[in-house]
Amino acid sequence: LVLQTILVGDSGVGKTSLLVQFDQGKFIPGSFSATVGIGFTVMVTVDNAKVKLQIWDTAGQERFRSVTHAYYRDAHALLLLYDITSRSSFDNIRAWLTEIHEYAQSDVVIMLLGNKADMNSERAIRRDEGERLAREYSVPFMETSAKTGVNVELAFTAVAKDLKSRA
Ligand code: GDP
Ligand code: MG
Repeated sequence: LVLQTILVGDSGVGKTSLLVQFDQGKFIPGSFSATVGIGFTVMVTVDNAKVKLQIWDTAGQERFRSVTHAYYRDAHALLLLYDITSRSSFDNIRAWLTEIHEYAQSDVVIMLLGNKADMNSERAIRRDEGERLAREYSVPFMETSAKTGVNVELAFTAVAKDLKSRA
């Protein structure tokens, strides 16, 4: 069984950087070109059992929406990202959730991530705002940094754990 996981959220929030940090354990500064359909498979160990995750990167741009709709249908889990230094990326989370509820399976596992947690001095969204939004939609939440790696492995492991508990 391969569990399909996709990353969604506005362009620039750090989706590709988060994947690179998880996959390679490093941060490569600078924006990545739009990477639709880049997927890789990882084994995550949950309670001594191995869970195979296939992770797909998406681009947040409107022009790729038709591509991501196809991904939604097959997704078992969604990592939904905003950038803690960007109010608009946070405000758009509601629109992403509306789209997710429209196109994804009703039992899809969702996790909300406030990325770029290392940029505290430029923070625009308080942690408790993220927590409150997550509570409203009954989804787990954490702040991550693709730069320092904080909570990156934890986020993917938590998703794998949630998926396994439902399998
Ligand atoms: P995507 O469009 O969501 O895939 O975002 P990218 O991964 O291309 O990242 C957009 C920009 O934010 C790039 O300049 C990254 O180097 C930067 N970035 C991504 N994640 C982080 C992070 O956690 N901390 C910091 N400081 N910069 C980040
Ligand atoms: Mg990207």
